[in-house]
Amino acid sequence: MPKPLWAPWRLEYVQHADELDRCIFCDPEPGLLVDQGEHAIVVLNKFPYSSGHLLVAPRRHLSDFSELAEDEVLEIHRFAALAVDDLRAEYGAQGFNIGWNLGHAAGAGIEDHVHLHVVPRWNGDTSFMPVLGDVKVLPEHLLETARRLRARAAGRR
Ligand SMILES: [Zn+2]
Repeated sequence: MPKPLWAPWRLEYVQHADELDRCIFCDPEPGLLVDQGEHAIVVLNKFPYSSGHLLVAPRRHLSDFSELAEDEVLEIHRFAALAVDDLRAEYGAQGFNIGWNLGHAAGAGIEDHVHLHVVPRWNGDTSFMPVLGDVKVLPEHLLETARRLRARAAGRR
């Protein structure tokens, strides 16, 4: 099994999950912000399923998926498509899971502000992302991943 380069995010989660009083989409951590447009933003998930797990959200603090406006839907979709391109180019992602988790019953961690998950996948990605007990090991620091993806986004402007 490959030696993990970095894995303290779970500890961070244990320390801060209960203290999260701000909305991570209305007030994103600058280091995790990847891209932003007029109606939507892209942030790196601090508690990812895999490296490069991105979240695309409307700028509006909105809990009801059906209330998304057309311009928001369009920009969110466009950002998701760009995320796919960038994760392919930067990390050689071979597949993607893209979707909305609406409501606690569906696994939504943040219900107050709807967001679209873009999760890159690799063939046999259990070896890319070793699972040790319930601790998923990420091969790259989150801030480095965000920096690389932010540079790609900036390269388009
Ligand atoms: Zn919000």
